[in-house]
Amino acid sequence: MAEQTSYLLGLVGQGIGASLTPAMQEREGHEAGLRLSYRLIDADVRGIGVDDLRDVLLWAQRLGFDGLNVTHPFKQAVVPLLDDLSPDAADLGAVNTVVLRDGRALGRNTDWAGWSRAFTEALPDATADRAVLVGAGGAGVAVGYGLLSQGAEHVAVVDSDHDRAEACVVRLAKRFGDDRVTVATDLERAVGDAQGVVNATPVGMLGHPGTSVPAELVDERLWVSDVVYFPLETELVRLARSRGCRVVTGGGMAVQQAVGAFEHFTDRPADADRMARHFAELTRAA
Ligand code: NAD
Repeated sequence: MAEQTSYLLGLVGQGIGASLTPAMQEREGHEAGLRLSYRLIDADVRGIGVDDLRDVLLWAQRLGFDGLNVTHPFKQAVVPLLDDLSPDAADLGAVNTVVLRDGRALGRNTDWAGWSRAFTEALPDATADRAVLVGAGGAGVAVGYGLLSQGAEHVAVVDSDHDRAEACVVRLAKRFGDDRVTVATDLERAVGDAQGVVNATPVGMLGHPGTSVPAELVDERLWVSDVVYFPLETELVRLARSRGCRVVTGGGMAVQQAVGAFEHFTDRPADADRMARHFAELTRAA
């Protein structure tokens, strides 16, 4: 069979109008000598709800799509609709990459490894540290999985919604053991016991000003990772830099999850440095 060189891909989610993913994937495809088209399937614009997801997958396959990225609010809802789930996606109960191949829909998750790759590259000596994870939603669970996979001694999970923190801990403990991940209700104490803190809440995003970690808890002893990437320089990132902390912005995760998705979709290696340079160009222009 001739080697596949043409790909039709898409992103399904709400509020994705400003997504940089189509530009990143199409450029990387072009650089790799492929004809790759990447469409936004904006659920708000097209009136797509969770109940329509089965039809979206079916029609994507019928219309010749080779894969879909899936984002908020569909990452969990898509799981039962798939023919195959990688073990990490099954652990997380969430999929951000669906490969459509030979009539089958294969669920993969590149969020956690994306965060972890970006973190390990930036702070290779901090992978085994104790960390506080603030925010236990979709991004939080992925980051927690990344932290524990890369060898974090302990992760304390904080969320303003206690049930969410609890659910995140139960999920991660099932995979990594309940001595390595616990709910924390006292943020100050948890930060005092840790070497690093991750913001996985939307606080700091455009339209969500502020920081999820109070300024008085941020000192040079800590590394700080923020998953928010719109903007890259969040209030927390600026504060942490000004206090002398080592900082990892949300851009690395955004790039690395796209690297992972490209590789799943095309079965070819992506050039992560090239994608990072393109992402930087795109964010400067945004
Ligand atoms: P979500 O709504 O599923 O979860 C957010 C969680 O944060 C909720 O559980 C909420 O209760 C909690 N929270 C909100 N404010 C809080 C506060 N002040 N203190 C403690 N907990 C608080 O959202 P999500 O899908 O997990 O996304 C979170 C952020 O991560 C968004 O800004 C999103 O853009 C970003 N994100 C970035 C990447 C990336 O590639 N860099 C990938 C995924 C998500």
